[in-house]
Amino acid sequence: NLVPVGRALLSVSDKTGLLDLAKALAAQGVELISTGGTASALRTAGLAVRDVAEVTGFPEMMDGRVKTLHPMVHGGLLALRDDDEHLVAMAAHGIEPIDLLVVNLYPFEAAVARGASYDDCIENIDIGGPAMIRAAAKNHRFVNVVTDIADYAPLLAEMKANDGATSLAFRQKLALTAYSRTAAYDAAVSGWMAGALKEPAPRRRAFAGQLASTLRYGENPHQKAAFYTDGTWRAGVATARQLQGKELSYNNINDTDAAFELVAEFDPSEGPACVIVKHANPCGVARGATLAEAYERAFDCDRTSAFGGIIALNQPLDGPTAEKICEIFTEVVIAPGADAAAREVFSAKKNLRLLTTMGLPDPMAKGLMFKQVAGGFLVQDRDSGHVDALDLKVVTQRKPTEAELADLLFAWTVAKHVKSNAIIYANDGATVGVGAGQMSRVDSTRIAARKAQDMALGLGLAQPLTVGSVVASDAFFPFADGLLAAAEAGAVAVIQPGGSMRDAEVIAAADAAGLAMVFTGQRHFRH
Ligand code: 5GP
Repeated sequence: NLVPVGRALLSVSDKTGLLDLAKALAAQGVELISTGGTASALRTAGLAVRDVAEVTGFPEMMDGRVKTLHPMVHGGLLALRDDDEHLVAMAAHGIEPIDLLVVNLYPFEAAVARGASYDDCIENIDIGGPAMIRAAAKNHRFVNVVTDIADYAPLLAEMKANDGATSLAFRQKLALTAYSRTAAYDAAVSGWMAGALKEPAPRRRAFAGQLASTLRYGENPHQKAAFYTDGTWRAGVATARQLQGKELSYNNINDTDAAFELVAEFDPSEGPACVIVKHANPCGVARGATLAEAYERAFDCDRTSAFGGIIALNQPLDGPTAEKICEIFTEVVIAPGADAAAREVFSAKKNLRLLTTMGLPDPMAKGLMFKQVAGGFLVQDRDSGHVDALDLKVVTQRKPTEAELADLLFAWTVAKHVKSNAIIYANDGATVGVGAGQMSRVDSTRIAARKAQDMALGLGLAQPLTVGSVVASDAFFPFADGLLAAAEAGAVAVIQPGGSMRDAEVIAAADAAGLAMVFTGQRHFRH
């Protein structure tokens, strides 16, 4: 199953590594054929190359839309070298076999990511490239297809080990990579069109991602894992730059995403904010006069859980905040930048992962979320729901004060990012108790209050910070018990969607307890 490589067609948009590859191939006596830009890059480097136009007998035309779409190319890629009829056809039409195809596609995903116009995106849809890739991959019994620059070196190693030939197993792996690439490419086009045409998310579109990295393991060490990106998010964990620290793990990426998406809800022009996440739930969220203060206040919500946490900031990390963060063990810090002083402080903590991004993601941006179920996956819009003061309906006799209102909206924003059932107590722009992921709402309410009590003991406070706090519930209180538990913990104002059959009962209980309560009319389940 060893097949020697005699002729190669190179057609690449990203010319990284091209010259080294081409030189090594030429040195092994491989004949090179190439398309316009690739051919001139090779010629400039002094390599002998045949233009594809010479092979096809047609010029490249229509702004490059038609370059390689020709039987001389596709026959050379698709012909079975051990089939008499195919050999006769090749001889009759003067088709030469192509044994190696090296293609990377027009940078469609990059065009979308930079916000290119509709027409520009259309022009960036590669047609001839995927056609050749699919042809070569189909004929992997004879043909090598390289679509990933990372495969240049393995290809040369394989050829070196086999006297200029490659094995079937090697070509099969290349073909698998190739089909993954064209599938992801077309899915990117499909996803972009769905967005451009405002097509309701779950219909008529394909989904795929590109392998960004293989991870050491998944949620647990016995699970294999990888990270795929879909090129749609400009500022977020997928496009963040890691400035230092150990390799990111599966759980790190998941938690970092949760932290950064939440902190992005807090507009930096309204002041610094900090989120600390553990197991995909925030264990502390706070605003502060300075970033360092925001961090300290977030930390004070639940110092126990914050150990080994993931920290997200809505402003570039500065020296004082970095110093504070270094006082305990932290897994990851993500921020839209880090100044020199912060970098200096962190340089002493070699394992601490520091990620920086180009700004903050837009929490209202459209996008999709996926959830795996046995045999399939569920698709829905991102929860880009948002309420502001004008959307709130006061349902109690007492109206919330201005300060309470600010805290209610703050707590509501956090609730959106906490696993259901979610209960959040907040006081003066900081969470003081978070109850996450319980099967009953009243349990979440009690757990959050108990955590606040524990913190009061730890901080030596006279009373827990839930006293005089506000409370947010991600969905309606089905009974008055949860609300009463919050009142017992000292909450004075409540924000919740409303809409329960027993709303009247719950409102009456709130009035009896002297609470102010507002309805959002919008729910934020998150599972
Ligand atoms: P070059 O820089 O060599 O002029 O162009 C290389 C790019 O052209 C590669 O990304 C390749 O996938 C793409 N390509 C090759 N043949 C065709 C074709 O017939 N039509 C289109 N639209 N793109 C092609």
